Amino acid sequence: RDYVELYEKDQAKWALLRNVNTVFKHNTLLPGDYVWLDLKTGHEFEVPIGAVVKLCDSGQIQVLDDEGNEHWISPQNANNIKPMHPTSIHGVEDMIRLGDLNEAGILRNLLIRYREHLIYTNCGGRTYTGSILVAVNPYQLLPIYTADQIRLYTNKKIGEMPPHIFAIADNCYFNMQRNNKDQCCIISGESGAGKTESTKLILQFLAAISAFGNAKTIRNDNSSRFGKYIDIHFNKRGAIEGAKIEQYLLEKSRVCRQARDERNYHIFYCMLKGMTVDQKKKLGLGKATDYTYLTIGHCTVCDGRDDQKEYSNIRSAMKVLMFTDKENWEISKLLAAILHMGNLSYEARTYDNLDACEVHRCPDLTTAAVLLEVDLKDLMNCLTSRTIITRGETVSTPLSVEQALDVRDAFVKGIYGRLFVWIVEKINAAIYKPPSLELKAVRRSIGLLDIFGFENFTINSFEQLCINFANENLQQFFVRHVFKLEQEEYNLENINWQHIEFTDNQDALDMIAIKPMNIISLIDEESKFPKGTDTTMLNKLNSQHKLNTNYIPPKNTYETQFGIQHFAGIVYYETRGFLEKNRDTLHGDIIQLVHSSKNKFIKQIFQADVAMGAETRKRSPTLSSQFKRSLELLMRTLSVCQPFFVRCIKPNEYKKPMLFDRELCVRQLRYSGMMETIRIRRAGYPIRYTFVEFVDRYRVLMPGVKPAYKQGDLRGTCQRIAEAVLGRDDDWQMGKTKIFLKDHHDMLLEIERDKA
Ligand code: ATP
Ligand code: MG
Repeated sequence: RDYVELYEKDQAKWALLRNVNTVFKHNTLLPGDYVWLDLKTGHEFEVPIGAVVKLCDSGQIQVLDDEGNEHWISPQNANNIKPMHPTSIHGVEDMIRLGDLNEAGILRNLLIRYREHLIYTNCGGRTYTGSILVAVNPYQLLPIYTADQIRLYTNKKIGEMPPHIFAIADNCYFNMQRNNKDQCCIISGESGAGKTESTKLILQFLAAISAFGNAKTIRNDNSSRFGKYIDIHFNKRGAIEGAKIEQYLLEKSRVCRQARDERNYHIFYCMLKGMTVDQKKKLGLGKATDYTYLTIGHCTVCDGRDDQKEYSNIRSAMKVLMFTDKENWEISKLLAAILHMGNLSYEARTYDNLDACEVHRCPDLTTAAVLLEVDLKDLMNCLTSRTIITRGETVSTPLSVEQALDVRDAFVKGIYGRLFVWIVEKINAAIYKPPSLELKAVRRSIGLLDIFGFENFTINSFEQLCINFANENLQQFFVRHVFKLEQEEYNLENINWQHIEFTDNQDALDMIAIKPMNIISLIDEESKFPKGTDTTMLNKLNSQHKLNTNYIPPKNTYETQFGIQHFAGIVYYETRGFLEKNRDTLHGDIIQLVHSSKNKFIKQIFQADVAMGAETRKRSPTLSSQFKRSLELLMRTLSVCQPFFVRCIKPNEYKKPMLFDRELCVRQLRYSGMMETIRIRRAGYPIRYTFVEFVDRYRVLMPGVKPAYKQGDLRGTCQRIAEAVLGRDDDWQMGKTKIFLKDHHDMLLEIERDKA
């Protein structure tokens, strides 16, 4: 039966259908009808599942659910089923059109679209506060990104064509031109949800270069281990003029350590597969399995990735981005030096009753010294002892094996981190064009944010705290735009409006980084305090925050973890190593070693450190304060843009196509606030014009209306035009200074205006 028709024609029957208790009594369900089935398992992320009626027989009803399971429903369990709204049966392109506006409805809509390879769904059409697109990762190549598709989506309004990432891209562009305002696109979702792919689809030309910051993790074979904001600049005529990349917090620890089944950065494996025999010989390199740093995760290959082919892609991309052969070679030398350093082995010794160690002389050590162009003896000394200045005297103290390994790893991470920063700067030099003075005013930009998603592992450390802090910030940005600003404006303008509740994560954010004595600032303080340790830091966090509902203190004095209630769930952080990671300093001997090197390239990437001097270095900003600062700048940049949001959803944990894990999806939808988002979008007025804007844009629709500046009663004129074109009773409203419209009003007005 055609439900939509039934719904429209026979409202009375429909009302009956909607009433659960009548289902059995009046025999209103027939085979082929759709229902919601509540399995009532009590699982946290369980929601009713869609099902179709197969049989109605002697008081029992048999249904087949969306997963293909059959259930018998008896009259006692009548409450477990509810008729489905027609819009939920075949799905809708925009969630705000859903009749069953609840989690089950949203989830099923994504599911049935996903099964038809329709991975994109709109969430609130074209709106004043920015479109929201939901993207479910298909884990397979879909034929929807062709040049023809690009053409189809060019110059279209959202809603005119089926939802698509290209529609978002095109609308960013269109809005930028029409409103002369910078745009940004915030792409969020958990690891493996498809953020980077979405970014690449908007921006293919920067794709290959991400190998330096991407690696295989358990959750994603090509996980971005850094955040980036790519700003694309357009000139007055709307042509791309240049771009700029901002990078955030590369996960440096990965260079030395990887979890089981994870890899180091792709570039190492690519290099070993892609270089010529001759090149490898010059760098003393073998195969991936020869290197400790590449084998800690017991995984050197990655299904579906061709490291050799990738290497040639990277090389050609780097050529385009104006890296010279010499520069490429210098980069390779440092990468090789890192691998050799990772293979060093140490032996414990005792000097004057002190723990000490010796590094074995081996080909790896010699090659590392040659590649770094430093004296072999100096390198050995640096790796096994440390110079301390006490009362003006310099003393060399030996390092234990454990300390020596830490020093080596810190050095290696220092090299890789600086190399990464240098590469990003180099790319920027190639793609960035500073605006000329007269252009400054007319240049506009579209920014794409692809930042690490929320992370919650078995063991979480300082990096996860920073990452989750960034995600709290983005969530707050979303909440502010979608809920706070929107409802504030309705109040200010005296719009007839029913307040919509939402989950605000401002409290958690306050505790992490905003209010006095926040977590980040306490960690920072303790990092600068010479006697501070991870334990004293944890004590301070406990005494300051133990009463905060968003803070979970350790259960006893032995435990070294604390927890934070994030918007996306509770995460426990292991504090061991926090301060060291936050200080992120290399000791003076290493800097001295770099200074003594004949390798100009390594000196260049360490330039700032060498120039600083020991004392300044000690006071240099910690990792968290740098990160906090760059986040603040990012938030400020975003706040002056018109935002678009792409919410990527990971449908399963197995990277498989056509597999939809309901509970996993509900969790992602729930914590991102999708439910409330759709509700506010449906109730809201996405399009607003000031009376001046409205009258000047649409006065052509009413003969004889003068321009706004010649109007005595601007509000009245605005209202007259709206009544004439949209009808008096339709759901639009006059505010104090603006007119508030629904999407379809804007569409109608624009169509009429095009005709006029
Ligand atoms: P991370 O936070 O770990 O960097 P991410 O959200 O950036 O994760 P992606 O690397 O974009 O995740 O996506 C993971 C994988 O999912 C991709 O390597 C690709 O195989 C697949 N994928 C994502 N989006 C699409 C798409 N639109 N079409 C086809 N495959 C996709
Ligand atoms: Mg990514």
